[in-house]
Amino acid sequence: MEYVGCHLSISDGYVSMAETAERIGANTFAFFIRNPRGGNSRKPSQEEIAEFNHATEKFAPLVVHGAYTMNLCSDKEDVRNKAVGMLKDDLELMEQIPGNYYNFHPGSHLFQGIQAGTCFIAEALNGILDAGQSTVVLLETMAGKGSEIGQNFQELAAVLDKIRCKEKAGVCFDTCHVWDAGYDIRDNLDSVLDVFDHAIGIDKLKAVHINDSLYGRGSRKDRHAKLGKGTIGLEALERIVKHPALAGKPFILETPCNLTEYQQEIALVNNWLGEA
Ligand code: FE
Ligand code: FE
Ligand code: ZN
Repeated sequence: MEYVGCHLSISDGYVSMAETAERIGANTFAFFIRNPRGGNSRKPSQEEIAEFNHATEKFAPLVVHGAYTMNLCSDKEDVRNKAVGMLKDDLELMEQIPGNYYNFHPGSHLFQGIQAGTCFIAEALNGILDAGQSTVVLLETMAGKGSEIGQNFQELAAVLDKIRCKEKAGVCFDTCHVWDAGYDIRDNLDSVLDVFDHAIGIDKLKAVHINDSLYGRGSRKDRHAKLGKGTIGLEALERIVKHPALAGKPFILETPCNLTEYQQEIALVNNWLGEA
């Protein structure tokens, strides 16, 4: 089964997202569980949750996104504590929509170094992840802006290796980020996935953010582009979507699209998958 969807806005409520997804041909989607720049999450009512869970029953795992401001490895203790609070809160809410993915940016170590950064992230996760939870948290591969952790697979492996509830953690593979970080997914996809497999284990790759990139390989810019409107290009994106190692994963578009354009991109990806 193929699962393709896009990023949707939660501003009209949970149920409306599920309806929108259905309308544009998506069978999975992503949304920010709280304001991406921080702030509080909207607490849905029990009825809203029940209706949402019913409407998304036949969907693939959703790939819910944590806030950008959640920095589990900040050099400031209060920022770290706030991040831990957000994560705890978000994962509590996630258990109301059970069995989905919670994807987040690992964090920025702010010149404390990768070693310190990965330790803080793992420590935070070890304090929160519970063997009984239904949510699997996904660390996102990052473009490498500033001091972002996760711009190479080894950094993500360093976090995952330290996590005790191993089956509750994985990776979300963002094509724009991986490319911007320097991995040649355009002309050497097999070898990039091989490097991933050796560093992390391909079984840990649970979801894909399928984006083109405005800037070149290794640019570390993190500027998403519509499919075919960037430096990765349609041919390479088609190869990624059809790659057997990624078969059956939820593919989430995070391109600068309105809903009509998202509908077209979902159709394009489904078309590729239909031919796979
Ligand atoms: Fe992200
Ligand atoms: Fe992403
Ligand atoms: Zn990005």
